[in-house]
Amino acid sequence: MGKGYLGLIEDIRSWLRFQQSLGMEFVSSSPGISGFLSSADTHDPARKNVPGGHFFAGRSRDGVPGSSVSAPGSDTLPGLKSKVEKCTGCDLHRYRTNVVFGEGPEDARLLVVGEAPGRQEDQEGRPFVGVSGELLTKMLRAINISRTECFITSVVKCRPPGNRTPEQHEIERCAPFLFRQIELIRPSFILALGLIAAHTLFKTDNPLTSLRGRWHRLDNARVMVTYHPAYLLRFGGMRQKNLKREAWHDLQMLEKEYVASKNA
Ligand code: SF4
Repeated sequence: MGKGYLGLIEDIRSWLRFQQSLGMEFVSSSPGISGFLSSADTHDPARKNVPGGHFFAGRSRDGVPGSSVSAPGSDTLPGLKSKVEKCTGCDLHRYRTNVVFGEGPEDARLLVVGEAPGRQEDQEGRPFVGVSGELLTKMLRAINISRTECFITSVVKCRPPGNRTPEQHEIERCAPFLFRQIELIRPSFILALGLIAAHTLFKTDNPLTSLRGRWHRLDNARVMVTYHPAYLLRFGGMRQKNLKREAWHDLQMLEKEYVASKNA
């Protein structure tokens, strides 16, 4: 069996996992295709076959440098976390149950940046633990990246009331914490989820469609922009299908470079 053949199988498996992550539970296939997919990897306990189908169970910066925002001084991530937890820098502190600083290894190679905590994140004090978080975990798994190897955070660290979009002055007050996190973690890759994350990192107001699907650089990190999981969950029909295809393209680009740099 040649390497190309194995690569093709892995691509198919990744695509199927990605479809699963977006809610697809069944794909029509002949028994022959089911057998082919099963034989591709017999070590994945999350997959099982049924007759007639396959179930899944399982310093360019594009503008102004982000670090022009004055980062709050703290030499360690725990030190920064303790500062953020006491922060009353904007009105969002009035509504929070918990500050959501982010979580993950202090030396993570991949930093994932979302928009803001939602209700469940606010309750638990952890990032991406709601429905969007479940989808994020599955999206990462689809490209063979474990959630636990990433540091996951957001642009603002306190939940906006009613899950509204953070306002510009709130973003400006909170973004220095994010840039300090980037300085301390020094990730090789950043995955920016959605418009707020991309606009904050690159200080631009370009549409997401012009930012996603290509590599950017932020200091030493390579940055990929894609749709926020919540956005992917918002639509149905052809719109969702197109968004899914684009997100998958972005994630595959990330997987390719992430794996290559791991093996370098
Ligand atoms: Fe401070 Fe950020 Fe929370 Fe505003 S959102 S209070 S700036 S930690």
